[in-house]
Amino acid sequence: MDQETNTFLTADLRFLRQINRLAVLDVVRQRGPISRTDISRVIKLTPATSFTIVDELVKMGLLRPQGIGSSTGGRRPTLFEFNPTAFFVLGVDIGGLGKMIAVLADLDGNVLARAASELAVGEGPAGVIARIVASLKQVILEAGVERHALRGVGIATPGLADPRTGRIIYSANLGWQDIAIADPVEQAMGLPTWVENNANAMALGESWCGAGRGFQNVICLNVGVGIGAGIVIRGKLYRGSGGLAGEIGHTTVDEDGPRCRCGNHGCLEALAAGPAIARRAVRGIRRGTVTRIADLVQGKLEYVTAEVVSQAAALGDPFALQILEEAGQYVGLGVANLINSLNPDVVVIGGGVAQAGEVFFAGVRRAVAARALQLSAAQARIVPAKLGMDAGAVGATTLVLERSLAS
Ligand SMILES: [Zn+2]
Repeated sequence: MDQETNTFLTADLRFLRQINRLAVLDVVRQRGPISRTDISRVIKLTPATSFTIVDELVKMGLLRPQGIGSSTGGRRPTLFEFNPTAFFVLGVDIGGLGKMIAVLADLDGNVLARAASELAVGEGPAGVIARIVASLKQVILEAGVERHALRGVGIATPGLADPRTGRIIYSANLGWQDIAIADPVEQAMGLPTWVENNANAMALGESWCGAGRGFQNVICLNVGVGIGAGIVIRGKLYRGSGGLAGEIGHTTVDEDGPRCRCGNHGCLEALAAGPAIARRAVRGIRRGTVTRIADLVQGKLEYVTAEVVSQAAALGDPFALQILEEAGQYVGLGVANLINSLNPDVVVIGGGVAQAGEVFFAGVRRAVAARALQLSAAQARIVPAKLGMDAGAVGATTLVLERSLAS
């Protein structure tokens, strides 16, 4: 066997092992205490394979024996449960809006300590990395967790990240291009560190311990300053060839639409992300629409943001409600395309714009009902994200668990 074939085989086997371990872990987490025979029945692995995996996970501390089941004829089987405190994990969300959040969590996404800080405009990579390290040290101290119980650090970042090299390829929000992020943090903390785009991190978090928990195929949409999606298939993040999958924000929904920051016209992001919502509000006010939005910023239109539009909507302002419903409908077009392409169990929608709540979701559901194929639309629940502002940071912690299972 030549070298290349061998490499492929090893990578495939490692991938398969990671998938199987994830599946076993998830079944025990959802249904435990459970016997090895029942695990193999649920996930349709051969008993030999699932017995081996259970043993490996017990060795890693992730599963532990918990009682004896009832006999089905032979010896009474040992039952196993998930151990969410086998080790602890650190997560950082660099954030797109100048807010950085660091957490220390257990393996079930329970946050033991949290630190939030504002990033100064134009703060360079060195400053941000120093702040990440300081925040991580702070949450370790606060949680009182011993160093040896920590397994690694996950970092969620806006823009394009390369999980293999640990570098941020490009981030419009941060104004960064090709910046090493994982290595300097790893060196400073003495812990293995991984980086991932924030929509992907959010998707991992929501599917492991948020609104997508218990589902196999989960799409998670982040609608904020930009629009991105993370795609989880059979419990595993789908990254694409180069880690760039899920850029749903740059699919065309209106050929003659406004110019997007990517250079194209009529991208979903250019019509429904936060800045587009603010722009539409300002345009309406300039045209003479009477709305509470103008009152909330005391006439200073440069202060209109999607958040202000949401505030006005909460006060019952008809124009604000209309803008958010329309934004929801555009997002719904993107969601309908994803549902038709991927037939997911659940579509989780989070991010700043989704905080607008029911009016926004009503728009999404209306567009999906009109555009997606009936059968796949009926199978896909559309739900708000559960992890809120911590979604990116908690999602980043699940990177550590995911990578630990690959070893
Ligand atoms: Zn675009």
